[in-house]
Amino acid sequence: MKDRSANPLPPVELFNPSNGLAIRVHQDRRIERSGPDTEGWQRYRRIRPDMPIDQFIARQRNNGFRDLVAGDIPRFEEVLAMDTNGVACATDGCEGIEPDGACSHGAPAWPNAMLRMAGSVS
Ligand SMILES: [Zn+2]
Repeated sequence: MKDRSANPLPPVELFNPSNGLAIRVHQDRRIERSGPDTEGWQRYRRIRPDMPIDQFIARQRNNGFRDLVAGDIPRFEEVLAMDTNGVACATDGCEGIEPDGACSHGAPAWPNAMLRMAGSVS
């Protein structure tokens, strides 16, 4: 596996249960993000040129990211329903919490997390 250009690695998809952020890291240093508010993946940022990609991914894992699995990100309609019903899930999967609150682990409810994402991505 010395010549990566001949056999490019697939992108790495990571999810942070503590804030609901999902990122996809490409070998060409592009990072995309996904959430209930996005249609699939959207452009987010790039890895610094002097940062090895493996090291960047290791750093994200140290910061609370793990591999993304199906069901991590609710659909937009599901988050709206949480808000309407007054009962929400947290980004780490805890259930039965206030839509504007957080679970006992400090993870925000999805409606709350989406507000924070909207504020941070611009
Ligand atoms: Zn929790």
